[in-house]
Amino acid sequence: MNVKNTISCHCGACSLKLNEPSPKFSLMCACEDCRQALSWAAQRGGKKPKDIIYSAYFRSDIQSYDGIKNMTVTQLRSDARSTRVYCKNCFSCIAIDHLVYEDNVFMMQPEHCVQDFNAVTPPKAIIHLIDYNGEATDVPSDTIPIFHSLQYPQERKRFRAIKPISESFAPSKTSLQGITLRDLIAKINKVEVLHLEKGNVPV
Ligand SMILES: [Zn+2]
Ligand SMILES: [Zn+2]
Repeated sequence: MNVKNTISCHCGACSLKLNEPSPKFSLMCACEDCRQALSWAAQRGGKKPKDIIYSAYFRSDIQSYDGIKNMTVTQLRSDARSTRVYCKNCFSCIAIDHLVYEDNVFMMQPEHCVQDFNAVTPPKAIIHLIDYNGEATDVPSDTIPIFHSLQYPQERKRFRAIKPISESFAPSKTSLQGITLRDLIAKINKVEVLHLEKGNVPV
């Protein structure tokens, strides 16, 4: 059986295979941290990010991985809540962990790596518009919930109420078949902290 479950970098030096390759949900993220991280990677050969980035969430259950010696793990700053896995050669970003995911899910931005499966599902919300500098008319705010930030409890409650976000972030009721993203990150290398200045996104 030819299962399509592979996320790989653009040069093919590293890849992951997922036990559950269908996205649990997706968001459009306008945060400056995503842009800063991907712009940092773009200066090293990765793809330049858009202002708002399509982001898909998957169960953190990795069946197998390849090219671990070509992977590197970074955080933007020492107080970072996100940890990103890149290919050292082509600087594709293949997976992203965040503290709030609790290792139940991880994020992947399909435009910044390669998948042999469909990672596109209609986004449930646009988040962190506080960091968005583009045209308001480019944001489909009539058709999708928008969140200026997730700083306030009311916003977080409204966010968590969107199906299926809460269920997706919760621990799964079925047991893992593989390892989690955090297990993989622990095997790669010591997390490299980039010490980039907050908000200083190169253009
Ligand atoms: Zn690569
Ligand atoms: Zn983001």
